[in-house]
Amino acid sequence: MDIKNQINTILKEKYQVSLAGATDEQVYYSLLNYTKLLLDEKSLISGDKRVFYFSAEFLIGKLLSNNLINLGIYDKVARILKEEGKELALIEEIEVEPSLGNGGLGRLAACFLDSIATLDLPGDGIGLNYHLGLFKQKFINNKQMELPDPWIETDSWLNKTANTYTVEYGDFSLQSVMYDLDVVGYHGNKNKLHLFDVAGVDESLVNRGIDFDKTAIAKNLTLFLYPDDSTKEGQLLRIYQQYFMVSSGAQYILNWCRQSGFDLADLADHVVIQINDTHPSLIIPELIRLLTKEGFTLHQAVKIVEKTCAYTNHTILKEALEKWPRDYLKQVVPQLMDIIESLDAIIKERSTNQNVQIIDSQNLVHMAHMDIHFGFSVNGVAKLHTDILKEVELNDFYNMYPEKFNNKTNGITFRRWLISCNHELARYLESLIGTGFKNDGSQLEKLLDFRNDKEVLANLLKIKSSSKAALARHLKETLGCDVDCDSIFDIQIKRMHEYKRQQLNVLYIIDQYLKIKAGYRPKTPLTCIFGAKAAPSYVLAKDIIHLILSLSELIDNDEDVAPYLKVVMVENYDVTLAQRLFPAADISEQISLASKEASGTGNMKFMLNGAVTLGTDDGANVEIHDLVGDDNVYIFGASSSEVIEHYRLDDYSPQDILESKPHLRKLVDFIIGDQLSVIGDKESLTRVYQELVGRDYFMTLLDLENYIEVKEKMLDDYQQREKWSVKMLVNIAMAGFFSSDRTIGQYNEEIWKLK
Ligand SMILES: *Cc1c(COP(=O)(O)O)cnc(C)c1O
Repeated sequence: MDIKNQINTILKEKYQVSLAGATDEQVYYSLLNYTKLLLDEKSLISGDKRVFYFSAEFLIGKLLSNNLINLGIYDKVARILKEEGKELALIEEIEVEPSLGNGGLGRLAACFLDSIATLDLPGDGIGLNYHLGLFKQKFINNKQMELPDPWIETDSWLNKTANTYTVEYGDFSLQSVMYDLDVVGYHGNKNKLHLFDVAGVDESLVNRGIDFDKTAIAKNLTLFLYPDDSTKEGQLLRIYQQYFMVSSGAQYILNWCRQSGFDLADLADHVVIQINDTHPSLIIPELIRLLTKEGFTLHQAVKIVEKTCAYTNHTILKEALEKWPRDYLKQVVPQLMDIIESLDAIIKERSTNQNVQIIDSQNLVHMAHMDIHFGFSVNGVAKLHTDILKEVELNDFYNMYPEKFNNKTNGITFRRWLISCNHELARYLESLIGTGFKNDGSQLEKLLDFRNDKEVLANLLKIKSSSKAALARHLKETLGCDVDCDSIFDIQIKRMHEYKRQQLNVLYIIDQYLKIKAGYRPKTPLTCIFGAKAAPSYVLAKDIIHLILSLSELIDNDEDVAPYLKVVMVENYDVTLAQRLFPAADISEQISLASKEASGTGNMKFMLNGAVTLGTDDGANVEIHDLVGDDNVYIFGASSSEVIEHYRLDDYSPQDILESKPHLRKLVDFIIGDQLSVIGDKESLTRVYQELVGRDYFMTLLDLENYIEVKEKMLDDYQQREKWSVKMLVNIAMAGFFSSDRTIGQYNEEIWKLK
């Protein structure tokens, strides 16, 4: 039976309608069911050794389009729908995005699953099935409000399995239920994402916003990702969640080994566990515990686990490396505490260096330290990041275990971040260089042959214009705002954090505002687009959102400036919005303080879609710079070694900078000036101001002057459209290195060694 008949059959059975007469919603649910049937028929990728990717987050995004693309029927389905007057793009809008992640780390996990399956490697994801996600962001009175983000529907991609496991805590136990999502590779077979849940989750526990009773563990365990941990109850809940994930996952893995007839003594020959950041670190003591229950001695169990677990570090921000009070662990998982103490004793024998202990003198348990000592691999996520880990942040560990350290520069799946989000560009590239680039990124380099081809260059500009127009329409529909399609789209989308320095971008906008007020007329108007969620308890991050929204209002209401400058902050930045934003960008803002952004992956998505990077020599920007060369990227600011030196000497002073460069002072003063104070909340704006002039921990002012200079040069260069289009072309052509297929190939060759 052909596709059209099958979809019609489902529509008839479910809704008693045919395709022509069905609503978009009916078509969506029928397509969902149809696609699930196709996924059922795919065989599981199997092998003698399997990777289990443990992650607190999987920011997978909507699945319909990607599944259709990977199944090889996207174009066919789109055509069939069109014949009946339906638009696949509109039908996709019915799907709710799963809220299973937060930012880059979770999106990386999702890209990795796609690539693992595409490379036909046996590998599954292990995570939790959060019912209400991180939060849904709303702006009220120019401030961020958080609401629950429910996404689970009766008819969805999730499949409930019959697998259940008992997870034991100090004084009670919970039953975990396993849900699966199929992960199909590009034109290939499938793996699974296993998400564990408790049966008794009670969404009515949620009071105002995302506030809820943190003590009712059996009812609240999988309500939210990263529940507020500013209280003891919040911290305990996070430990309950983490243990629930790893204990369920470990039991699943050991059962799988038994069923496959593997000897658990040879676990490392059949299983590799990749620990994505420190949230799943309890897998190490939990596996050791389960192996000792199987009859292994502690020593034997440690030896086995050491060969099985590998750790990925995602940050050098000290405050982000998890440390749990020993008492909390003792309360939640007493059965693990003996094991953690034994591991700690082993390390105290090995070294007297206080910096490398698992349990420190304040009785804090350092999760990352456990991973490094008892895993066989430690990787950073971009060259610079790995170098900083080795030479600075984790230097004491590097001296102990140099052989464990390795780099795996992050990547993104081209199926989502080019083929799915930018059909027009993908189709055009296909007409020029064939389809090979879809699962072999390096083939994008063939595009370099066209760098002098005026027609190709003009077409790239045309495609960019059409993506900008599509975004402008979307912004009109959703936010009601009018964006000039002929303006320069300058985009900064990522979590809100001081180290990412959205505040630096804001100071540039203030500078432009004042210049335009003083009579300057930019050749091309500039549209500055932001998208960012702030952690609910991160006050300053929320203050910066408030600043951006207030500034946006100020400029919109200023007749002199509005024709030349616009600030838009999109609400609830998520994967769905990301897929609209990346294709429409002219400028990619990657302006973190050098040394602070481990890698970034947004930078790669922009590049692949033909935006030019304005960035510091940080994270993977360094590798982008190397690949495209000085002419095709705009780099500014202090180098990572200068920044690290400032921290070491503790000699950075924003006051010194403001005294030597008085023209910068009026930009900072503007934040608490009369104009913004009329619109915004003075207290909130003052906090941003105070941080900038009083401490400026992330050295915004250090790079401000150079940022303004380089950005002006970039905007000037934008005027030369053909030259600019060459930059676009070179960026797209050189983005192949950032395919997550390349990254996963390296994980497999150097860490996992599957097949
Ligand atoms: C790619 C992506 C990120 C990561 O962006 P960075 O700029 O690397 O921090 C965060 N959120 C979403 C929705 C993404 O798609």
